[in-house]
Amino acid sequence: MAVDSATLSHFVGGEWLSISEGDHTPDLNPSDATQVLAQVPQAGPQTLDRAAEAAKSAFRPWSRGTGQARADVLHRAANVLASRRDEFAALMASEVGKPIGEAGMEADRGVMILRYFAEEAVHPNGSVIPAQQAGSIQFTLRQPLGPVAVISPWNFPLAIPLWKIAPALTYGNTIIWKPAEVASLTAHRLVEVFAEAGLPEGVLNLVLGKGSVLGDALVNHDGVRAVTFTGSDGVGARIAKSASRRNIKYQLEMGGKNAALVLGDADLDQAAKLVAAGAMRFAGQKCTATSRAIVTSDTVDAFVERLTQQIKALPLAPATDPGSAVGPLITQDSQEKVRKYAEEGARSGEVVLGGSKPSDEALQEGYFFEPTVIVGVAPDATVAQEEVFGPLLVVQRAADIAEALQIANGTKYGLSVSLFTRDINAALEYIQEIECGMVRVNGDTTGVDPHAPFGGMRGSSSHSREQGPAAIEFFTETKTVQINQAG
Ligand code: NAD
Repeated sequence: MAVDSATLSHFVGGEWLSISEGDHTPDLNPSDATQVLAQVPQAGPQTLDRAAEAAKSAFRPWSRGTGQARADVLHRAANVLASRRDEFAALMASEVGKPIGEAGMEADRGVMILRYFAEEAVHPNGSVIPAQQAGSIQFTLRQPLGPVAVISPWNFPLAIPLWKIAPALTYGNTIIWKPAEVASLTAHRLVEVFAEAGLPEGVLNLVLGKGSVLGDALVNHDGVRAVTFTGSDGVGARIAKSASRRNIKYQLEMGGKNAALVLGDADLDQAAKLVAAGAMRFAGQKCTATSRAIVTSDTVDAFVERLTQQIKALPLAPATDPGSAVGPLITQDSQEKVRKYAEEGARSGEVVLGGSKPSDEALQEGYFFEPTVIVGVAPDATVAQEEVFGPLLVVQRAADIAEALQIANGTKYGLSVSLFTRDINAALEYIQEIECGMVRVNGDTTGVDPHAPFGGMRGSSSHSREQGPAAIEFFTETKTVQINQAG
């Protein structure tokens, strides 16, 4: 898709603000970084104050309106997004390098999320608790928090903001949204969708710019009553500190070091296909991407042979190419980071696929890296412990399910995992022992149904869950109400 290079605007109190309190930053196409898609302005204290004021003023009318009125807006937003599905797919492919087929699926997921939370607006949201006093009625009310800061990453530029924004809105909160700088164009377009759907002014405010400049100011702003964040663990830890100091509610979903465990009795063709997809599609830039395959020793050779065949069948191509499966890394820094991890991995293991930038002439202007598999990496190697966020899979050997579980649980993360086996007892043991929020048997570590709880354990999360029925827990607070007879 040809995207005109435009100067983007913040959206505050229902108005597009074309001001920048700092230099603009170019928003590049990572498949061809000579293509500038947009210029991103920098929000500073003035824009932030205006956004906080707008979110505060809009809170009372929005939260005290009917659930049906909020449901209607979300349904209309779903309809608008569905009608612009292909445009959003092309936009995400250009802006964040998501292969266009997957980008289309993300747009579909966005529509599903909006429809799910539209319905939630008119579902029961409290319970009746028998009172000790005769003749009294006691019940709980789930009430919105107020203006919420939404801080989102670049890799799911539509779905992640939506699985925060939609429940925040449905339960009556207002929003100040700061998307990742490199996903600003998609954010700008998504706000247009809500504006077209008739969302009242001030309910959703968009502030653009670098997290390093704007992030702390947003999290520490007096007008912000809660923070929902998805991104890296370093930034998450910083947000947790600021939010705890102010005693406001916060929610963090962070990185992973997701493993696929493959036992000798597994269907190896199925395992190889799903591990290849989980590790390499979208160049491994999903928080749930498979980055370790832990394979019983008797099976490593047969598995790796099938795995490399499956990976070779995934086209490494510009994300806008309809056949693309792998795509580029998001920035040159990410490309360099992956190269360094591959270099480190090669010191303790054997590189059986990839290991460097591709030589293909057509890929030289983009941030591509070859799908890379390193076999025999020690569990304590940096590349086996840290989140790489690139198309790099390490294969580790284990004697049996017990050792495989020990290796799988041996990092600081606990997001997503899969076990490939036909052994019901091994599967049952694994389900009990694995320390991850999302647990699969014979599945891909990536992708979770949009209505199922999503989140990690240990260093991957602040231990709340997003999506589906779990979302109400974060976006509301409980009031216990008792009504007694007048004397
Ligand atoms: P990131 O942490 O660099 O940025 C995330 C967001 O935080 C961006 O909007 C950024 O501008 C903002 N930010 C940066 N510094 C900030 C600060 N000091 N204060 C407040 N906000 C600040 O992450 P990213 O590169 O955009 O995304 C990749 C990371 O996100 C990976 O670690 C990945 O695993 C993780 N992720 C996790 C999930 C999940 O649900 N667990 C989903 C997707 C991505």
